[in-house]
Amino acid sequence: MKVAVVTVGDELLAGRTTDTNATWLCERLDDRGVSVERVTTVPDRVGDIARVVNEYRAEYDAVIVTGGLGPTHDDLTMEGVAAALGRPVEEHDAALAWLEENGYARDDLASGTAALPAGARALHNEVGVAPGAVLEGIYVLPGVPSEMQAMFETVADEFAGTATYRETVVADEPESALLDRIADLRDRFDVAVGSYPGESVRLELTSTDEATVEKAATWLRERVESPDGER
Ligand code: ATP
Ligand code: MG
Repeated sequence: MKVAVVTVGDELLAGRTTDTNATWLCERLDDRGVSVERVTTVPDRVGDIARVVNEYRAEYDAVIVTGGLGPTHDDLTMEGVAAALGRPVEEHDAALAWLEENGYARDDLASGTAALPAGARALHNEVGVAPGAVLEGIYVLPGVPSEMQAMFETVADEFAGTATYRETVVADEPESALLDRIADLRDRFDVAVGSYPGESVRLELTSTDEATVEKAATWLRERVESPDGER
């Protein structure tokens, strides 16, 4: 399963808020064997949201959009998603009923609180107020991290992929010195290799076959300088 993540918010693009939602979602999806192919941040603008959602829904199995829910003037995500699908936004009766059952008087809720693209399945917000929505493979979640996380858990089972196995090998050598061994490793074993230089070089080996990735990691560990000087 291939997925795109879209985070919405001017404050993300201005660097005032760190996009921890994207990172959290990528990690959770990766754990489930789902491949995240895009992470894109867009401003609080209906046209930008609609354009990206439209492009990604054609390309990927699902699109997860976070941020910009609720009734305030800069909360335009539902409108953007609705526009991408050519649908109107309308008050969702079941979402309103759920809010009432959970202690919110209909009259006290700002108008538009439960406005979702027509035909959407509402996702309840166990932590905050604004409901999320699912339709046509697009999952719309809140921006507040605790709300987003709780809501994602209610749909997590809808995201499934092939289990992948990962082994990390740390090499205390310059990345350029490792190139031959990495090439050799890739010839010998059917694994994907990611190389992440920092103080040492972190090599991430992944495969859908657990035994293969373990054998590859053992082979490589015997051939690189480990940080503590051991082989
Ligand atoms: P509300 O319903 O409370 O208005 P919302 O779903 O509209 O929430 P936003 O208004 O976009 O969400 O953001 C609310 C807060 O959540 C922001 O001030 C920010 O602190 C945080 N937030 C939003 N997007 C992200 C993100 N991608 N990563 C981390 N935090 C975020
Ligand atoms: Mg908001």
